[in-house]
Formats: sequence, C-alpha cells, structure tokens
Amino acid sequence: MTWEFLGLQCRHWDGYKEIEDKKETCKICGKVKDVDDFYYLLPQKGIKKLGTKLRPNSKKTFRNKKEAEIVNDTINFYGATVDVDVHNSYKSRVLGNKAITIADDRIVKLKERGIKCYIDQHLIYIKIDRRKKKFGKEKYGGFPWEIKRDKLKNFPVIFDFDEKYQFLGLTILR
Ligand SMILES: [Zn+2]
Repeated sequence: MTWEFLGLQCRHWDGYKEIEDKKETCKICGKVKDVDDFYYLLPQKGIKKLGTKLRPNSKKTFRNKKEAEIVNDTINFYGATVDVDVHNSYKSRVLGNKAITIADDRIVKLKERGIKCYIDQHLIYIKIDRRKKKFGKEKYGGFPWEIKRDKLKNFPVIFDFDEKYQFLGLTILR
C-alpha cells in the first residue's frame, strides 16, 4: 500500500515501457497507463480538492438515470455530509407509468445537524431538523406576502436587502 501511495506522487517523468498485451507501465513506479488510480492523496494543510467541477455536458435526453449520470458521489467531512449529483436530461417513469423528462441538473446537498441544504440550478431549499419539535402532518408553502402578518411572526427568518429592496440573502434563527 505504501508503494501505491508513493506511486500516486510519481509524475511518470521517465515515460512508459511496454509490457505484455500492449499495456504500458511507468518506468519509475510501475503504474499501468490509462488505468484509474483508486486512492486519493489530500494535503494535510490547506484546502482539500477532490474532483473537478462538473456540469451537464449533453443536450441529449438519455433513456434512464444511469446513462445520464455524470457524477453521484458523497463525502463525509468532519461530520458534515456533502452530496454532488450531476446528470444530463433523462426519461423517468417514477411518477406512474407515464414517462416524464427530468431536466439536466447539478444538485449539491449539504447535511449538518439534521438540517439539509439543497442547491440546484433553479432553487435553494433548506429543510430544518424535524426531530426536535412536534410538527403537524400537513405541509404548506407560500410567499411572505401571502401569509398573514400575525402568522409570519412564527417564522424566525430575517431577510437581507439593499436600499432598492433587492434580495441579498436570509438568516434563519435556530
Ligand atoms: Zn510513475
């Protein structure tokens, strides 16, 4: 294993030599050319980078989710979970038998302390921890101006905006 980790640091400067079956291996570390490495080396200090930023890369609608998938991966980083799901457009039969087209998207989900934050191309959704309080069965939604003022006081949300009332962000008090 130590040798494999050292091999990951090799930049294969001396080139490759041909072995059997037309395969080529690095003259220094022995890595087989065009074969994926299975270990990730991350620096102990500084920012850890894993993978490049991926986006949908085709205009085509694929037959199913698997064929449309570009990446669907999860990392647990010191107790916080980050999930990245990037896919092209595809046909889905999840809702009944009628095939619907799922749009291409890049969806990032963060989970921390029971709170889920979901970001895709069109919206940012935050789901609070429902285990902490007793909640009702129904779920409603509405813009602030659609909700009665006295009911708005139940929501611990602060909007940030500029002098032209342009939305800048929001804070949710726990
Ligand atoms: Zn090498």
